[in-house]
Amino acid sequence: MTERLGLGGATITALLDAEGPFFLPLSEAFPDADADLLEGADRLDPDPRPAPGRWWLAFRVHVVEVAGRVVLVDTGAASDTPLHSAWAPSGPHLADRLADELDVGAEQVTDVVLTHLHGDHAAGSIDHEGRPAFPAATYHLQTREIEAVRAAGEAGEHWRQLLDPLAAADQLHACEGAVALAAGPGPAVELRPTPGHTPGHQSVLVSGAQGRVLVAGDVFTHALQVLEPASRYVFDQDHDEAVRTRQEVLESVRTLGAALGTAHLHTSFVRV
Ligand SMILES: [Zn+2]
Repeated sequence: MTERLGLGGATITALLDAEGPFFLPLSEAFPDADADLLEGADRLDPDPRPAPGRWWLAFRVHVVEVAGRVVLVDTGAASDTPLHSAWAPSGPHLADRLADELDVGAEQVTDVVLTHLHGDHAAGSIDHEGRPAFPAATYHLQTREIEAVRAAGEAGEHWRQLLDPLAAADQLHACEGAVALAAGPGPAVELRPTPGHTPGHQSVLVSGAQGRVLVAGDVFTHALQVLEPASRYVFDQDHDEAVRTRQEVLESVRTLGAALGTAHLHTSFVRV
């Protein structure tokens, strides 16, 4: 399912790239979550396919159109490339979905922002032959994220299949902290470091005359973290940093009156 929001001079489209169950039961992914918290989370973000103990996820990609630019935030889970995660659902390549369903050709994409280097957010970044899937786009990653996978030895080697072709094609922009992709006045797109889930995780704030959306990647993977930002998620690399980031992001979306653009929640755009 696709949902589009007009923000006044900018539009943001949430494309459901895939959906499916997580590889662990909810109680193992969030060991501290009690029944009350889970009930509250279900009211905020109802599961369309409730099943006891199971964590059902959406895998969403966001397409931002602003000031002549087409900005992809993440490239999803489903694309059958060397970057696809074995546990994640598979499906058509993202570039085909964008062309067929949104009439956006791969060569029209000007920017690809990867929130972080996990397979369920980056699978469609390359094509089946391992070349950059969006040939005219600049791919934006935080330097801290690139350095973290380079320092991860064998586990990080995997990401050379993305980083090497991007560097060879001169399509990689290593970002140092906040970056304005499209600056105001008027509609704006800003990258913001939101570390914790991974060291160089980043989010994207889209601002228009009539509204704002903060696309927050895996800062929030489940609605229970919106209600209780200190909840432990076993796949946050740095728990304390992830908690601080969740608290700061919640404060900032409240102050800005922004909706939260989600990758994995059942609801595409959450009002906090
Ligand atoms: Zn994820």
